[in-house]
Amino acid sequence: MTKYFNRIPFYATYNVTFRCNSRCIYCDYWKSDPPELSTADALMVIDRIAESGVSMLAISGGEPLLRNDIAQLIKRAKDYGVLTTLNTSGLIIKEKLAQELAKYVDALTISIDGPPQIHDMQRGIKGAFERSLIALKMYKSAGIRVGINMVLTDLNRDFILETFNSLNDYIDFMTVQPVNPPLKNSLNQKAQDDLYAIKSSGKLLLPDSFIEHMDGYFNGNFTKICDALKLYYAVDPLGNVTACAPRHDIVIGNLLQNSCSSIIKMISHDSQEKIEKCTGCYLVCTVGVSMQMKQPLLESAVQGVKMYI
Ligand code: SF4
Ligand code: SF4
Repeated sequence: MTKYFNRIPFYATYNVTFRCNSRCIYCDYWKSDPPELSTADALMVIDRIAESGVSMLAISGGEPLLRNDIAQLIKRAKDYGVLTTLNTSGLIIKEKLAQELAKYVDALTISIDGPPQIHDMQRGIKGAFERSLIALKMYKSAGIRVGINMVLTDLNRDFILETFNSLNDYIDFMTVQPVNPPLKNSLNQKAQDDLYAIKSSGKLLLPDSFIEHMDGYFNGNFTKICDALKLYYAVDPLGNVTACAPRHDIVIGNLLQNSCSSIIKMISHDSQEKIEKCTGCYLVCTVGVSMQMKQPLLESAVQGVKMYI
């Protein structure tokens, strides 16, 4: 009961499912078939997230489009006036669903890990790039703001600018996510130069400090930045509030039983200790958010506008 309830998180990630139809080489989610909430319970979770006062809600997974009720869930968040983002691999292509999502999704991110061969290799699915490109164009013509996210590894670090240039005509924004946990020496000068070049185009939605310190993260020379439960929190497929998306083992409480603010107020000493002892991360949804908030107000505002308008 200390610092954790002095600030209200403004950003939440709801992983609506951990099921996934991708086979990414850096992730284990697809290897299991974990349970998730019914539509009625998931809607209640969204009510409680919205009532917690967040301004932004990222719907993620797993592959969130594997839930047949995905449009209904996002609509509920939108009914509260929350800015909504949706992350997808782009493997599911359904025109009607795209039209429906266009009414409620403010920004949609498709994972693209590089040129076709590299993308397919990292995502573990032959033909994945081709499908994701079709999805990208489909969402764009449905009127949704569409961007790509690239998970950076030593396989694709030399292809960042090439990937951006090949898709520039179809996208409104781009982010990159260093693979978690980091692979040593996965970043090089070219990768960093590529990121600054894309930043100058205005489409890379990352603070300069995120690019600047990425090398330190990859090489074990990075001072932990953590605002879990202060600026952001995450919710897992069962409605558990967790410290953040990567540490879904640090469960603070469950939204089917309590409101978010009371869960954060009642945080146990054990959970606080786990957060304090966590060795760190470098995710767009954790460190990226913290760095964004430390930017001058004007730059933060401009980035926010670029994401959603
Ligand atoms: S798309 Fe995401 S959740 Fe699915 S296997 Fe890849 S990294 Fe894991
Ligand atoms: S440092 Fe640990 S607890 Fe904090 S946001 Fe990163 S993974 Fe979560």
